[in-house]
Amino acid sequence: MNCAECEILLHALIDGELDAGHARDVEAHVADCSACAQKLKEFRAMRDALASADLKEAAPASLRSRIDAALPPAAAPARAEGRRKIFQPSRRSFFGGFAAGSALSAAIAASLVLTVFRPGQEQTIADEVVSAHIRSLQPGHLMDVETSDQHTVKPWFDGKVDVAPPVIDLTAEGFTLLGGRLDYIDGEPVASVVYRRRKHIINLFVAQRLGSEHSFVSARTVQGYNVRHWSYGGLDFWAVSDLDPEELGEFVDKISAALRPSRSP
Ligand SMILES: [Zn+2]
Repeated sequence: MNCAECEILLHALIDGELDAGHARDVEAHVADCSACAQKLKEFRAMRDALASADLKEAAPASLRSRIDAALPPAAAPARAEGRRKIFQPSRRSFFGGFAAGSALSAAIAASLVLTVFRPGQEQTIADEVVSAHIRSLQPGHLMDVETSDQHTVKPWFDGKVDVAPPVIDLTAEGFTLLGGRLDYIDGEPVASVVYRRRKHIINLFVAQRLGSEHSFVSARTVQGYNVRHWSYGGLDFWAVSDLDPEELGEFVDKISAALRPSRSP
């Protein structure tokens, strides 16, 4: 890495936006280069100065009402197009109904038209979920909402992602629910439910799926991380961890079993 490349990445480093590999490269360069070390010091000082400065300016209420007036009413246009948001109410009740489980709501969910994880891009998305997993392991990045209570994690996602992901507590079965996080895959917001097995973190990414179900569980390894992918009830699930393949498989089995409508609450 040369100084020009390093300088570009320095801002990302201090914002915690680099994956582990790039962060290591930048840190190695900075350790050997006094010019870049000096720049890093200055960037950090600037960031700290900006963070402590009182720069927040509240927008006037008149601006808010002008923006509100300019926006179309929330539900109407989508309904007119017959796409995207049309199933929103059903979707909500479907996920609310996950615990109780019902074949009817599963049928509604299967007809949803919106996607984040597009079929046929398995490898690209596998790479992205692993990058997101690695990012999440950096200090302070793992969770936006930290609680072992599934009834806290679930509503937290409301309004942040199009889909309220099923949040299943598997603590009694050896997979501790740690919390949830909003992440980005393929440029779209995606929910991640975070679990821990001993020292190993599992990210379970949940997004909607377009097209046919991917009901078998596909397994792959990316950058040394084990990845499992399947879909169910109109949702795509990606589990990523450095947990050994067998135990990650056990995790997937337990999540799948909990999702099945036949399960009693
Ligand atoms: Zn340098």
